[in-house]
Amino acid sequence: MQTQILGLVTPLMALFFAAAFVVLWRVGRMKRHVLGFGIAFALSAIGYLVTHFTPADAPYVFHATQVFYSLGSVVMIASVCERAGQRLHLGSMAFVYVVTALVLGVAVSFSDDVASRLIIVNMGYGVMFAMGVTTLLTAPRRTVIDLLIIAVMVFQAADFLIRPTLTLLFEQSIPAAAYRESLYYSLIGLVLAVKGITNALVLIGATIVEWTNSLRESSERDVLTKLHNRASFEDVMRDLLPRAQTEGRPLSLVVADIDHFKQVNDIWGHQAGDLALAGFGELIGKMVRGCDTAGRVGGEEFCIAVWNCENAPAHRLAERIRQSFAALEHDGLNDDIRLTASFGVATARDGETYEHLFSRADQALYRAKSSGRDRVENAEERRLEEALVDAKPNLIDVKRAAAGR
Ligand code: GH3
Ligand code: MG
Ligand code: MG
Repeated sequence: MQTQILGLVTPLMALFFAAAFVVLWRVGRMKRHVLGFGIAFALSAIGYLVTHFTPADAPYVFHATQVFYSLGSVVMIASVCERAGQRLHLGSMAFVYVVTALVLGVAVSFSDDVASRLIIVNMGYGVMFAMGVTTLLTAPRRTVIDLLIIAVMVFQAADFLIRPTLTLLFEQSIPAAAYRESLYYSLIGLVLAVKGITNALVLIGATIVEWTNSLRESSERDVLTKLHNRASFEDVMRDLLPRAQTEGRPLSLVVADIDHFKQVNDIWGHQAGDLALAGFGELIGKMVRGCDTAGRVGGEEFCIAVWNCENAPAHRLAERIRQSFAALEHDGLNDDIRLTASFGVATARDGETYEHLFSRADQALYRAKSSGRDRVENAEERRLEEALVDAKPNLIDVKRAAAGR
């Protein structure tokens, strides 16, 4: 009776973790791999309960537990792979299951000794986890949490592949009827509890990190366009400006404003206006590089921090976006209606503040508006023109001096 009650600790703990993952998934509106963690814990708890409460010498016990443990393992491995952006090859997992189930069937019919059954099923789980590890290792991302998860999966694979053989060195044969009294069985409860806790702690930690990251991201994002909101864009710029200077890299700023946007709202309605804003945001997001930062800094005003980019290529980027936007179709507007936007470009000078850089780019944008809209104006070209105008009298002076006058 006492062992029966003690035997409930491990599955109850697994069910508790399963519930914790379901709550995290639901409350945090998290991706489905978090639900997968919960399902995997629930399936392994059922597998454990089946072993614990069915007659030890029933021939179907190993087959029944193998179904639940295999399903639990596959759901766990597939969820961990999905979290890392990788897809697990389910066909290979099914193949491993079928092969081990067939070999298990042969072992059950030929011998009353559970030692061989234990080695067969555990080998199957070990191979599944090892295959999961190889899939995880192909993932491009490798944060500390990703490495911890890989370590936990390696530990699982090694445990399944090595422990049964090691334990059975001490206890070569276990008759089916005496399975629950065996050393193997008392050890398995402990091992499953330790593995369950380690696994759950690492995955709960990973899920909480994911949750806080997504909360932080949503507080930094503009709901309509999914680009950075104004406060977040300004924070990024205030980080990038000194970094550009210490690393000696050019940093350009593009400011864009949709032309006559008020009329879009007036004629087609606010909702159509929103769709057009979302379309412009999506276009900008697609046309900038991963190292650039794009934000919606006002109603229909957008900014792009073009990292490690001189003035001329930043100007060309603005020109490409201008042309693509002018060709873009908009849901909610007539098919033949196209919108345009005006752009201002400026490139950071040594020690320049964000406010100063923005105001120069904004002045260029203002010039684009006042000279007819649907164009790109450049703060630096203007500066060059002014410098040439300033330089003219000096050139005349030099000529005069050369002529001896
Ligand atoms: P200009 O070419 O000089 O830029 O003219 P404009 O009409 O675009 O400029 P103005 O700044 O006068 O108008 C901007 C309009 O953008 C006014 C406002 O109704 C609209 N707007 C601002 N935020 C939103 C929004 O989130 N959704 C929609 N639909 N409209 C918005
Ligand atoms: Mg406008
Ligand atoms: Mg505006």
